[in-house]
Amino acid sequence: MKIMKFGGSSVANAENINKVIDIVLEQKINDIVIVVSALGGITDNLVMLANLASKPVCACGEKKKNEESKKLFESICERHDKVIGELIVSEKKMKVLKEISKKYGELEEIIKNISGKELSKQSLDAVMSFGELLSSFIISEVIRERGVPCEFVDSRDIIKTDNNFGNAEVDIKKSYQLISEYFSARGGSAFGGKNYLSVMGGFIASTKNGETTTLSRGGSDYTASLVGAAVDASVVEIWTDVDGLMTADPRKFKDAVLIPEISYEKAEEMALAGAKVIHPRTMKPAKLKNIIILIKNTFNPQALGTKIYNK
Ligand code: ADP
Ligand code: ASP
Ligand code: MG
Repeated sequence: MKIMKFGGSSVANAENINKVIDIVLEQKINDIVIVVSALGGITDNLVMLANLASKPVCACGEKKKNEESKKLFESICERHDKVIGELIVSEKKMKVLKEISKKYGELEEIIKNISGKELSKQSLDAVMSFGELLSSFIISEVIRERGVPCEFVDSRDIIKTDNNFGNAEVDIKKSYQLISEYFSARGGSAFGGKNYLSVMGGFIASTKNGETTTLSRGGSDYTASLVGAAVDASVVEIWTDVDGLMTADPRKFKDAVLIPEISYEKAEEMALAGAKVIHPRTMKPAKLKNIIILIKNTFNPQALGTKIYNK
């Protein structure tokens, strides 16, 4: 079994999502769990939306605030509708749009409830979770549209945390049990059944009482590693928008060079020091199970990437 995580820029629009699906369908391995981030920029938009809604009425007045909030909400919905419009053309389109507007309705309801109140971390998590909930649902439908069986998994059902909203601590024992039970019941070829493909959102989880939590910004990498460790995956792949872990941020330093391989410890150190390409929490679950993490570029899949392992 292998885990393939695709970040925000990899799933930012219809064109990129098609690239992602091509990459997944080219894989030789049979059982794949795809972990996706929100469409690029959507989590920031959701944070803005939550802050705007909860803000007490400003000098500009209630009407202006509501207008701004409505505009932002609609632009978030439009980004997702556009992907559906471009990638789902069969008779299923209406069904998917109907499903998705139910989710928009749920988000709208939460926004209404936090309106004018102080924004709690719990409410912010509930709002932010829609980025991954929407992207994972849409991508699973797009894969099915291509004629490939694929299942949508709500990550909140299988990743359990404490109630430290915004940066929740994962209950590893419980989560590993739920994750491995879930995937073994699916009967993928690793479990003696047919090939298996599923899509789940990164970053989001829930408390034992079912309240939505998040694993800190950029935390989808961590989700991928947790799932990989729980199912003893052969590899956890982190697909992003650069060739791999580099000696410095390539967007800031033109002379940054690729690090082809690195130990878990050094990679974690670099992540803690600001190498955003991999979330610092990602290394531990993989390291404990000796699972290789491979960082790859969605926009340059031929590049070898960075191998993180017990070097
Ligand atoms: P994703 O959305 O795929 O999770 P991120 O934006 O979280 O991607 O991380 C990728 C970005 O990390 C790159 O675009 C790059 O600008 C930045 N980055 C910062 N430091 C490094 C580094 N040392 N090596 C590679 N990328 C880095
Ligand atoms: N969408 C979340 C964020 O922007 C998580 C992630 O992308 O890893 O922080
Ligand atoms: Mg990231």
